[in-house]
Amino acid sequence: MSTGPIDTRLADSLAAIRDQFLASLPLQIAHLRTTLDTLGNAANDTERQAILRQAHVTAHSLAGTAGTFGYPALGSAARTLEFSLREALEAPDTPVVPDPYAAHVDSLVFQADAAARERPPPVRPPPLPPRPHAHAGSVILIEDDPALANRLGAYLHHFGYEVRHFDSATAFAAAAPSLPPPTALLIDNALPEGALAGIQAAIARPDSMRDTPMLFMSANDSQAARIGALRAGGQAYLLKPVEPAQVLDALESVVDAASGRPYRVLILDDDPAMVAHHSAVLGAAGFDTVGLDDPGRLLDVMRDQAPDIVLLDLYMPDTSGSDLAAMIHQIPAFAGVPILFVSAEHDIAAQQAAMLSGGDDFLIKPVDPDRLVSAVRYRAARHRQLRELMKNDSLTGLLDHASVKERLAAEMHRIDRHGGTLTVAMLDVDHFKQVNDQHGHALGDRILRELAMLLRRRLRSSDVAGRYGGEEFAILLPNTGPAAAVDLLNAIREDFGQISHFVGEQALHVTFSVGIASQTDWTTPETLLMAADAALYTAKKSGRNRVVLASGGA
Ligand code: GH3
Ligand code: MG
Ligand code: MG
Repeated sequence: MSTGPIDTRLADSLAAIRDQFLASLPLQIAHLRTTLDTLGNAANDTERQAILRQAHVTAHSLAGTAGTFGYPALGSAARTLEFSLREALEAPDTPVVPDPYAAHVDSLVFQADAAARERPPPVRPPPLPPRPHAHAGSVILIEDDPALANRLGAYLHHFGYEVRHFDSATAFAAAAPSLPPPTALLIDNALPEGALAGIQAAIARPDSMRDTPMLFMSANDSQAARIGALRAGGQAYLLKPVEPAQVLDALESVVDAASGRPYRVLILDDDPAMVAHHSAVLGAAGFDTVGLDDPGRLLDVMRDQAPDIVLLDLYMPDTSGSDLAAMIHQIPAFAGVPILFVSAEHDIAAQQAAMLSGGDDFLIKPVDPDRLVSAVRYRAARHRQLRELMKNDSLTGLLDHASVKERLAAEMHRIDRHGGTLTVAMLDVDHFKQVNDQHGHALGDRILRELAMLLRRRLRSSDVAGRYGGEEFAILLPNTGPAAAVDLLNAIREDFGQISHFVGEQALHVTFSVGIASQTDWTTPETLLMAADAALYTAKKSGRNRVVLASGGA
């Protein structure tokens, strides 16, 4: 279900390829000049042709690549040189003039310098996946109380679950073999067939649903009933009367566990072939990989990609893996990121030094693929667990205030370097004090949790949602224009307004207001947030339950 931020990743790696190209230019051009300088010393026509051909190949590829990366002036300078080299190749008996290409090479140097100074052209981002239309999964509900079944069905539907209802064990048993396995089975223990008929129905479920998570609901709090449900494979036991919100919570936790976003591994090795190899191995095992063969870009790439784990080569031309590990751990944001060293067996002393510098494990080249996968998975899982515990707001599970601001700064940094757009939304629940005052703080908490779930459902994995304050949420939408952001937030606002928050039998409806601002109008994190906040204020003043786009810029 979660696909990872493929869009930004691909854009980043394209930008990285472009940066590598820029960095390689001075050397390429210097080499071209040296080659052409030897023309004067060519002993005969054959040697002369060989030199021209070599230079032609370089100029030709430079022309093509420069254009692809968005440097047309550099491209056309290379193209001019390419043409005149081709002319010389096709008319071998033209008289030799001293330094006929010096001016061309000078203009290449000039354009390459200009390209390096220029703000990098935005990488054309690949098409983004559509935001999920709230589809969270499907649930089979086996429940003989029609009122509860209806209420649960309507409620779960708002959170993106498609609910298929059966009112007896017999009805379920008859239909089940031909049904696709749902995301979860939600089963009442007591059905018309008997007090434990739900448990029996679970045990007799078709093989296709063997791995489907099961949640039981029951008024029976006895140990025997609980153990029966557990033995049948139940992952939760909800005591009746159940609140729809409790069911949703239980459902979300089993669904989340089954569909975590893949771990991101940064692979640094000066040998591109090693990078490609480890990337392929880990990619095939379901990891999200970021390869790098230039140690000089490690920090930038870490900032852009926020890997869950880093795989470091120990020996590289100008740097050692242990220095890099020590550097990573000096940066507070990366202090806990696990580092696995990859090295040759014989360097016991170097291995020890590396472990002292903060390595978490040592893998010996050539690394057995299974060993690589399991070492990476274990370390990455531990790290993510700890990080989620630390950064998430405990009530909603969203990022907390400080983490949202950190992500905002990172996104703006990314846009400065690679181009792109960002829209920010500030969302505040309407008359929330009243909800608390009239129905109690516990209901207020539940509503905040429900709102957080809805946000998570409706956003892309590259979007960011955080709890900014008490009942205020901040949402960062990369690569999303203001108009699309307004539409998205309006759709979520309408959905949220339709949810019945039950207070006993009574249904309560709550709304929120939103202010939106785009980074094309405000270019620092502070002004962008202030603009979104001001728009939120306008939304409140003009009647609440609406989305307002900040106008103009600063
Ligand atoms: P407005 O439409 O103008 O935003 O009105 P409001 O009542 O929502 O705004 P106000 O800022 O006056 O009140 C916010 C309330 O949100 C006050 C506080 O009790 C409540 N609140 C903040 N954090 C939490 C929380 O974590 N749980 C609960 N239950 N309530 C919270
Ligand atoms: Mg409010
Ligand atoms: Mg408020």
